[in-house]
Amino acid sequence: MATAATNNQKKISYRAKESSKCPVCGTTHFKEDLLSGSGRLIAGKLSQELQRLYEDNKKWGKINPLVYHVQVCPKCLYAAFPKDFANATAEEVNALKNTVAHRQKIIETFFGKYDMGENRHLVHGAISYMLNVDCYHLRGNLIAPTPKKAVSALRAAWLLDDLFKEASYRPYDKLRDFYYVEAARYYKRVLDTMTAGIEPMEEAAYILGPSLDFNWAFDGVIYLNSYLTRKFIEQMATNPKDKYAIVDSSRRYLSKLYGSGKSSKSRPSIIIDLAKELYDEMGKLMEGYRIEYDPVFAEQKAKEAAEAAALVAEVQGRTK
Ligand SMILES: [Zn+2]
Repeated sequence: MATAATNNQKKISYRAKESSKCPVCGTTHFKEDLLSGSGRLIAGKLSQELQRLYEDNKKWGKINPLVYHVQVCPKCLYAAFPKDFANATAEEVNALKNTVAHRQKIIETFFGKYDMGENRHLVHGAISYMLNVDCYHLRGNLIAPTPKKAVSALRAAWLLDDLFKEASYRPYDKLRDFYYVEAARYYKRVLDTMTAGIEPMEEAAYILGPSLDFNWAFDGVIYLNSYLTRKFIEQMATNPKDKYAIVDSSRRYLSKLYGSGKSSKSRPSIIIDLAKELYDEMGKLMEGYRIEYDPVFAEQKAKEAAEAAALVAEVQGRTK
């Protein structure tokens, strides 16, 4: 078996000393992790999607720490966050065993043959989060799979976007948008089920991120649900009435976030500012949808607009 020691390139990662045994197929592997320090990562801006961006790095090349996070069995392609990897129940193992061919097909369809045991690049990272979404579908409520699917879908979209920038001749943009829409739906489901206590959300609190350098926790869930819904609403529903209802529901959660008051150490003002801006934009979006499906409202809005225009004309006439 190849070990890290045989790798003479500039080392950016290492293999765990202890092997991991796959609970599904019994294959062992040594998890790869990113080496830290020596200026390998230069933190850049935070995006509107709460994504930590990294500066181009002359010495080490492009490194994205997200690539190394998810644990994947190279044989049966079972994937999970490291804490959940070993503890699959008998029932879950059974479901995961029955879906190996399906997981292989996902990878082959979009990427061709890929060895998930080799040192990772961007492609392996994207695949790992796509597999993660798929595998958490098969896990029970006890480990809170829904928020884990939400974060994984968002990170899959990010890494697919990076891939698209590198190889725009492949349809990675379509796959990216599919995962963005998935993320919007899962984040909504997290909010809707949070109070119902169906999944113990504290089981997922540590992975909410969504980036690795700061955990925005449930503020991030609320904000991202609204942000992604606003961005991908056209793909989430077909008629204006449904679109209105989806945006309305997300916006109600959002109002709790910025309406809750001041920033604090755990709630930096940046997220409250972003939420406020988003709240206003969503209001305008809803008005547009309502005009489309509610003729009485549309007539009233047209009348208001005409009155406002007349008023402006009058004022302009007077000041001439
Ligand atoms: Zn396996």
